[in-house]
Amino acid sequence: MKLILLGAPGAGKGTQAEVICEHLSIPAISTGNIIREALTSGTEMGLRAKSYMDEGKLVPDEVVIGIIQDRLKQDDCKNGFILDGFPRTIPQAEALDKMGVVIDKVIDIEVPDEKIVERMSGRRVCESCGASYHLLYKKPEVEGKCGKCGGTLIQRKDDHPDTVKERLKVYHDQTEPLKGYYEKQGKLRIVEGQEAVEDTTKLTLAALEA
Ligand code: ADP
Ligand code: ZN
Repeated sequence: MKLILLGAPGAGKGTQAEVICEHLSIPAISTGNIIREALTSGTEMGLRAKSYMDEGKLVPDEVVIGIIQDRLKQDDCKNGFILDGFPRTIPQAEALDKMGVVIDKVIDIEVPDEKIVERMSGRRVCESCGASYHLLYKKPEVEGKCGKCGGTLIQRKDDHPDTVKERLKVYHDQTEPLKGYYEKQGKLRIVEGQEAVEDTTKLTLAALEA
């Protein structure tokens, strides 16, 4: 199955991507994580992306399209994949079509803006493996430590409130039009994000069947 997860920043795409990844045994591919890894290892692509990311802006289409093109060629994508955070613009969606990638379903996780701002302020990510946590909704077992790898949990620079507002604006302007794009193709499935992660998960798994 080839899936796309759509939704505002902080809507919980990453968490749901991990759930589907385990459920269907297909890789979850996060452009955000790939860019952050490039940043940490100091590659040219990472350096180019940094200024956009820190300001809450989108990294240029050709950069992320290149990332996805390379990633989808890898062996583990043969039986399908979940795209988390790609496409984020109409030209990115068109690029997928041009690559001949036929998407089965697009799951859109809807969360109101006010909730997003509240959630983002509590979000923490593992410095080492990128796993995400929340101070209220998805607490790590040991405070400040990643349950998967023991790494230190930090707040992403772009999760600070002013940057979050900019990211929401970018989402509404550039990413939300993708709903119409996939609705027309009959692929859009809407999931209302719930307070409890497990409740959203149930709806996501149901949307995979629908
Ligand atoms: P979130 O979903 O919480 O916004 P991500 O980790 O998916 O966070 O993305 C973080 C940042 O990485 C974005 O704000 C943007 O700068 C960059 N980015 C990730 N994916 C894309 C994409 N498909 N197109 C452009 N920029 C992207
Ligand atoms: Zn970790």
